[in-house]
Amino acid sequence: MIKEILADLVRIDSVSSRSNAEIVGYLESRCDAMGLITRRFPYVDDHGIEKINLVALSADVPEVELALVGHTDTVPYDPNWSEATNLTERGGKLYGRGACDTKGFIAAVLTATENIKPNKPFALVFTADEEIGLVGAKRLAQARPLRVRYSIVGEPTSLRPIRAGKGYSLAEVIVKGREAHSAYPALGASAVFRAARLINRLESIATQLKQDQHAAFDPPFTTLNIGLIHGGSAKNVLAGECRFTLEWRPIPTQPSEHVLELLNAAIAEEVKADPDFRCEVDASRQDTGFETSPDSPLVRLLEQATGNEAGTVAFGTEAAQMMKLGSEAVVIGPGDIREAHRTGEFVPVDELERCAEVLRECIAQLCSR
Ligand SMILES: [Zn+2]
Repeated sequence: MIKEILADLVRIDSVSSRSNAEIVGYLESRCDAMGLITRRFPYVDDHGIEKINLVALSADVPEVELALVGHTDTVPYDPNWSEATNLTERGGKLYGRGACDTKGFIAAVLTATENIKPNKPFALVFTADEEIGLVGAKRLAQARPLRVRYSIVGEPTSLRPIRAGKGYSLAEVIVKGREAHSAYPALGASAVFRAARLINRLESIATQLKQDQHAAFDPPFTTLNIGLIHGGSAKNVLAGECRFTLEWRPIPTQPSEHVLELLNAAIAEEVKADPDFRCEVDASRQDTGFETSPDSPLVRLLEQATGNEAGTVAFGTEAAQMMKLGSEAVVIGPGDIREAHRTGEFVPVDELERCAEVLRECIAQLCSR
């Protein structure tokens, strides 16, 4: 049963670049058949393509006790991978794009909610565009279609409850110089030299950030990376411009702006030393982290149901958006995140089936009291 649902989900190509209307149509008809009230929250993405967040409610109420949240989109796949949209079982594993991230969890949700009639209302939340920056969940957090007490957010964690996650922030830094013939450096100013000085300061900031520790994480502090740099136009020209991307993953107890403030202070220092220093900062992402107390009834329940101690992750999830809907959130799902996003992605059958049981138990415990 659960395998058939997963096979249906994997058959529908829902790579983030495409519209997720087809998979939402499938989920909607399954939810309708279960007697849930479905609501679509459509939007048009940056490429003019229709995307839909789907909310299915067990009762027509503004606040639910529990929300089960899964994203409908997947990362792209190699067209030569024949199993990508054709779920294949081999050695206790189910192979296919999204089997692990996160269609396995969605199949478990649909299985767990079949034929249940809890006292308190619950919701199923299916989002779009998670893989390209949590776009659908952010839209939903803004629209606030409902309030939620507890959220279980699907991501492959090998059924380990994840009660906290780091945030994710990104900025493009554009350092300006003045082009000149490299034989006469006094006639210009090299943007590359300027960027190098600023990057030196950022390396010191990365060291300084280690002071502010959050013991639940590995590593237990905000990390910072400059993953891309590009500058100059020719070997014998002083670079007119040098741009680099600064990425940081703040611990949830530290506001995302903290690193931006340190960056701006570093720029101010550069300006003090070189009044001609010019630089622009385009901060494009500020995804907050999330943290649910280890004492939360949801954390306790999931620890008990899975036999796994709660942990933390250093990557972004939709849990932060669910927190904005008023909920305590935990991330959990079948499959290993290290198997996701690659050819040969799979979910172990036993974990998949176990996930449905765990979810069923959570609904029974949280929604029947
Ligand atoms: Zn995912």
